[in-house]
Formats: sequence, structure tokens, C-alpha cells
Amino acid sequence: MEASRRGLLIILSSPSGAGKSTLARRLRAWDESIVFSVSATTRAPRPGEVDGTDYRFTSETEFKRLVAEGEMLEHAHVFGNFYGSPRGPVAEAIEAGHDVLFDIDWQGAQQIRNSSLGMHTLSIFLLPPSIAELKRRLEGRGQDGPEVIAKRMQKSWDEISHWDGYDFVLVNQDLDETEARLKSIVTATRLRRSQQPGLTDHVRHLQSEFEEGQP
Ligand code: ADP
Ligand code: 5GP
Repeated sequence: MEASRRGLLIILSSPSGAGKSTLARRLRAWDESIVFSVSATTRAPRPGEVDGTDYRFTSETEFKRLVAEGEMLEHAHVFGNFYGSPRGPVAEAIEAGHDVLFDIDWQGAQQIRNSSLGMHTLSIFLLPPSIAELKRRLEGRGQDGPEVIAKRMQKSWDEISHWDGYDFVLVNQDLDETEARLKSIVTATRLRRSQQPGLTDHVRHLQSEFEEGQP
């Protein structure tokens, strides 16, 4: 049976440290039916990251096999490592009417937008209030060494320069305010006509009721 609502592919991108993971966590706590797309990556786990929950940590050989076999919806090389979104869980969730949340870079966002699922995407870009604050957040997170932080800062402009390809842009200054705005965007986009396949039937019923004689 067709789900009454078609799932959205919610894409969050930003330069590293602007707040994607934090906001993704809050969005999922708000609505537990949102499925997080667990990316595969060749990067090493950070302290506290759980394989299969935060990322699927893979070798480069395994990653390349997944790509070659067409199992990645999108993939990219970011900060010297490979990252990609496995296709299977996404298709399943969307068909069942669940939204899928992606924490991916601009290259991945572009590939998904250009895929057959493009019309069901909602893309949101997060900007930091300033570059100085971005650096403070990366340092404050306390998970990367100075070299990794320097590399991410260097690449931040490359990511920011793609801000204008997204449906919505939020400056993540106050976390609670950004969270509220993000939820509003998701709530509104779920009501897009293309996300409500059940509407046709509903309108058909309204029509027959109408034709049977107005009250
Ligand atoms: P990303 O996933 O984009 O790399 P994170 O979500 O890990 O970024 O956020 C980086 C750091 O900044 C974390 O320590 C997080 O708690 C903090 N942070 C996120 N949003 C805000 C905000 N609006 N104000 C202050 N700190 C924030
Ligand atoms: P991190 O190493 O900080 O977890 O992620 C580094 C960057 O890779 C972030 O910009 C993140 O959004 C991006 N990223 C994570 N997973 C994927 C993915 O599956 N595909 C793409 N294209 N980018 C990803």
C-alpha cells in the first residue's frame, strides 16, 4: 500500500564545525521516525563514535567495492577520506514514508539533487556567524588535533562557497533558534504537494461528495 506521505531526503551541509551533527541530533530527538543515513567512511573513528551508528567505518578497498557495485547513492572525497551514503536503507525508508536525514558535504548534496530522488530532497545549509567562531567551535569540540583543525579551517571556504545551491540557509548563531527554524522548515516541506501522494484520493472523495449533492 502507498504510504500517505512520501519521505523527504533532508540534507544538512555546512563547513565542519558549524553545527550539523548537533542539529541533526536535535532533529532526530524531536521526531524519532526520521531515519539517519549512516554514511560509510574510510576515516578513523573519533573517540566515542560507534560503528554502524555514527558511521560505517570501512577500508578503502571495501569502500571502492561498494561504489563499483552501485551501492552508493552518492560519494565524495572529503579532507583526504572517502565518504558515501549507502543507497539501500534510503530507498526503503522513503517508500515507507519516513524522512531520511543526511549529514553530507556539498558534493553529495549535488549528486542527490541530480538523482532520481531529487524532487524529494530538502537541502539546508548552515553558515557560522563568523570564521573566528567556526574555529572556536572546532577547537571547543575537542575531538580533532591542531593539524586536523587547520585542514578543516582551510577547506571551510570551499564548502561555504556552495551555500547558494541549497533550498534554505540558516546562520547558526543561537542554537535553540536555529533548531526551531529547522523544525519549521521540515514541517512546512512535509506539506509540499509532491510529498503527499494521498491527496489525489482525498480530493477524489471530496469531488464525489460534492457531486452527490451539496449539503
Ligand atoms: P559539525 O557537525 O558541523 O562539524 P558540530 O555539530 O560537531 O559541527 O558542532 C561543533 C561544535 O560547536 C560542537 O562542540 C557544538 O556543541 C558547538 N555548537 C554547535 N552549534 C552551536 C551554536 N549555535 N552555538 C555555540 N556552539 C555551537
Ligand atoms: P566528519 O569527518 O567531520 O564526520 O565529516 C567531514 C565532512 O564529510 C562533513 O562535511 C560531512 O558532512 C561530510 N560527509 C559525511 N558523510 C558523508 C557522505 O556520506 N557523503 C558526503 N558526500 N559527505 C559526507
